[in-house]
Amino acid sequence: MIVLGIESTAHTFGVGIVDDNGRILADQRIQHRPKEGGIRPRDSAQMMSERGADVIKAALDEAKISIQDVNAIAYAIGPGLGPCLRTGAIAARFLAAKYNKPLVGVNHCIAHIEIGKLVGKIRDPLVVYLSGANTQIIALANGRYRIFGETLDIGLGNLLDSWGRKVGIPFPAGPKIEELAKQGKKFIPLPYTVKGSDLAFSGLYTAAVRATEKHDIADVAYSLQEVAFSMVAEVAERALAHTEKGEVLLVGGVAANKRLQKIMRIMAEGHNASLHVVPMKYAADNGIMIAWTGLLMYRAGITTPLSAPINPKFRTDQVDVVWADYETPDA
Ligand code: AMP
Ligand code: MG
Repeated sequence: MIVLGIESTAHTFGVGIVDDNGRILADQRIQHRPKEGGIRPRDSAQMMSERGADVIKAALDEAKISIQDVNAIAYAIGPGLGPCLRTGAIAARFLAAKYNKPLVGVNHCIAHIEIGKLVGKIRDPLVVYLSGANTQIIALANGRYRIFGETLDIGLGNLLDSWGRKVGIPFPAGPKIEELAKQGKKFIPLPYTVKGSDLAFSGLYTAAVRATEKHDIADVAYSLQEVAFSMVAEVAERALAHTEKGEVLLVGGVAANKRLQKIMRIMAEGHNASLHVVPMKYAADNGIMIAWTGLLMYRAGITTPLSAPINPKFRTDQVDVVWADYETPDA
């Protein structure tokens, strides 16, 4: 079985092709990079509509197959930015209708989890999902990926990118903040906001912006990371103690951060769990994760009607995970 997957939730238009052995046959992606400020949904969607067809063609060429060889078309149905989601959905619907292929609408957050499980050969982890827009602590329980804790305002990556923008670091600011933080020497107290098992970052953002008026920017970067990552570790630890999972899986772009990984590893090992970090290539938004999750869903009998609307606010815990019992292939 071969599935082609289209990712188009935010800045990336990605097309991946996978087979049911978990083999990656193609991975093509382009990214919208705003010259300044954050993502402008319409500009990103514009790029996707202008260049998306070329990316699909490049993926088919890379896999050395024709569209006829594909068994199903998967696409990210949500959550994400409306104009971007719509552009990817139109491409997917067109391919499905024209070539008479089944269509599978995939939850983007779940795709991050499933690709992490595939490449890390992990079965049942506590997932710590830290991307630009999303910050969630997730575990499979009673047939759904339940959210044990999440941000109540902005995502962790967004916190870093917004602060970075204020101090002149262009998007994505995370990697440069990580470098800057290594030169920090003094810890500056900043607001630590954990509410039950949820997080809030906007107070921390405001305080960190103000702190740059009085303090060395490296010290602020260091303190910002320490506070934000400790908040995540606290809620993740509570979920881990509750679920007693044996593995912790870090997914999303912020997972690349070495300091974060160290904090999470200490936390996980304290509960006899191992830490797994999704390699950057798969942690960033991509079409492979959509294709792979679409394949799992399609194999479990799930298809999506051509008329299904996109779902910009689609939640991780709204999907029945009927495919959970698959054997992780030795890809
Ligand atoms: P995603 O939304 O999953 O594509 O991830 C993008 C986010 O990851 C952006 O907010 C980046 O700033 C952030 N990011 C990437 N690399 C790092 C890093 N080394 N440390 C912290 N954040 C990072
Ligand atoms: Mg993502």
